[in-house]
Parts: sequence; structure tokens; C-alpha cells
Amino acid sequence: MEEIRYNNQIQEICEFTLEELTELFREMSEPPFRAKQVYSWLHQKLCGDFSEMTNLPKSLREKLSERFRVACAKPRQVLVSKLDGTRKYVLELYDGNVIEAVLMRYHHGNSVCISSQVGCRMGCRFCASTLDGCVRNLTAAEMLWEVYAIARDTGERISNIVMMGSGEPLDNFDETVRFLRMISDPAGLNISQRNITLSTCGLPDRIRALAEQSFQITLALSLHAASQEVREQIMPIAKAYPLSEVLSACEAYFQKTGRRLTFEYSVVKGVNDNRTEALRLSRLLKGRHGHVNLIPVNPIRERSYESPDRRTVEAFRDILTENGINATIRREMGRDISSACGQLRRSYIEHAGMRAD
Ligand code: SAH
Repeated sequence: MEEIRYNNQIQEICEFTLEELTELFREMSEPPFRAKQVYSWLHQKLCGDFSEMTNLPKSLREKLSERFRVACAKPRQVLVSKLDGTRKYVLELYDGNVIEAVLMRYHHGNSVCISSQVGCRMGCRFCASTLDGCVRNLTAAEMLWEVYAIARDTGERISNIVMMGSGEPLDNFDETVRFLRMISDPAGLNISQRNITLSTCGLPDRIRALAEQSFQITLALSLHAASQEVREQIMPIAKAYPLSEVLSACEAYFQKTGRRLTFEYSVVKGVNDNRTEALRLSRLLKGRHGHVNLIPVNPIRERSYESPDRRTVEAFRDILTENGINATIRREMGRDISSACGQLRRSYIEHAGMRAD
């Protein structure tokens, strides 16, 4: 396979909005229409190399390739589900780091789940992405290329994005916001913001800052517990932010954007799956604008957390429903290639004899 050479001088051209690219081209004494052409090659035709941009003069293509990189993430491994066509990708970045992204096929369209960081520093107890901490933030260009690499590989249209892969998107705020703006840009791939969900462990200031962007995306809060005490057990980051603060930031998000929230609740056997917790959760969410998504925990070998049986999860859902809380159990995609978030990357690194740090 093709080598990716690490070169600090080379910039990622996909990082620039059309406005910025136009300005950059002006500095290079290139007319605005050239910037538009290049932007369309990059973000609509998903071109991976300047040499393929056939309506540009050769001299300009050469000039650009000396200064910029186009493809920011290259598929190194793909696992394909025989059950539902789900495709899990290991993608390699220019500096040799690898990340995961997943394509899920639903009747309403194709959805890509992307990572926002290499690793994660939030420390959630059941999550494989955080075991070695955060290596670095991803750039907006790299996040775009998670989507572009998959669209190119399959030749299929992507209509939905979920930021639910490795990393905490709001811990990489500026690049995440840039990514959201560019992926929904009518001059680019033009994915409707209503079809984008951002999942966060709950950083109140950043949730409020996101609301200020006035995006139409859905915010999903990783709640996982109905009390501060249980939440702290599962999510160390919860110690820094009282549940009441997190929830009021979510309410502010709803007030500002009009977008209803999703509350994610990973159900862990013997930890947060009992009747008392279900009742407590019903009380906590009463009158809030959102619904609960129950995710039976996907066990990772480094931790002892187990998934409850199906009946327990259904009983938990029924208690919520009986108490007027809208709740669904997440459908598991690609059960035959199922591995928890971040596990594929870890096994790829182990087999390649590489280290995560
Ligand atoms: N940092 C963000 C997004 C990452 S993960 C966040 O915390 O929301 C997306 C969702 O998957 C989160 O709700 C996360 O808690 C959950 N998750 C991660 N690993 C899991 C596992 N092994 N089993 C069940 N849910 C998991």
C-alpha cells in the first residue's frame, strides 16, 4: 500500500472554507473562479489528488501539490457485516495515526459515524477509545475525509452523520464547528444539519457555545445515569460538572435551537439497570425536551462491565414509557463485526506492532 509521508510544511487544503480558499488564491494571484473550481473538486466530487482536477492548468496543479495535501485519511482495513452491510473502517492519517469510522445503512439513507480525536481523554469506564488517553485532536479536514473516504470507497451517497466515534467532539471545539459548517455547506457535500447528530459526554460551557452557533444539528447527551453519584462512577468527567449544570446547558441548547435532545443511556448490568434507576431517570427527565436512547453496553475486555439481558433492558424501557418518557432501545448494526467504539483501532495497532502514543 501507498506510503504516507509526514511533512510539516504541507497544509491540508480541505481545511479551508470557500471564502478562505478564495482569499488564499487571491494571495497566489489566482482568480476567484479557480478557488471555486478547486473547492468543488474537493468537496463535491471528492477528488483525492490535484492531478485529477482536469479543468485546472497543469502549472496550477503542480503549484498546489507542492503546498497542499488533499486526501487526509486513507482506508487501511475494512470489516463488512454480512447481516446488514455495515462497514467498519480503520483510516490512516498523514502522521501514521489511525482512527475508526463506520458506515451504517438504514432505510432512510447511509449514515457515517466519525471520530473527532485520536483516542479520548474523558475516561468513561466502559469505553475502549479512552484507554490510552487522547493522542491528538483531529482537524476539520480529517473529519471531512472520514466521510469522503467512505463515500469514495462505496460510491454511495451519505445523508447522515453521527459524531459518536472515538473522541469528545466538544473537547475539540473549533475544528468540530468548522467540520459541521463545511460538511453542511451547500457548495460542498451539503449534508442537511438536521441529519447530523453530535454526541457529548456533557461539557456545559461548550454545549452553550455550540448553541450560539445556531446549527440545526441534534445534540445527544451521554447521560448514562440518573444521579450524580452513579454518573461519577461510570464517567470520571462527571466529577467536574454537576448533573444539574449539564442538564440546564442542554435545556439552553433546546431553547436556542428548538432542537429536541437525545439522552443516551448505556445500560450496564448491576450498575444502572435497575428499577430504582429507571424511576429516578423518569423523574429527572420529566418535562425535558428529548427522548432516551438505551444502549446495552458493549463489553470491552479491559473492564468488567457486562451487558444486561434483553428482558432487563426492555423492562427498563417500559418503566420509562409508563412514566411518560419517550424511550427506544438502539438497534445494533453489524452484529457480526460488532466491537465497541475504539476496539477495532486498538486491535489494528496491536497487530501492526504500533503503539497508540
Ligand atoms: N465523547 C462523546 C462521543 C463518543 S461515544 C460522548 O461521550 O458522547 C458515543 C456514545 O457511545 C456515547 O454515549 C458513549 O458513552 C457510548 N459508548 C462508548 N463505548 C460504549 C460501549 N462499550 N458500550 C455502550 N456504549 C458505549
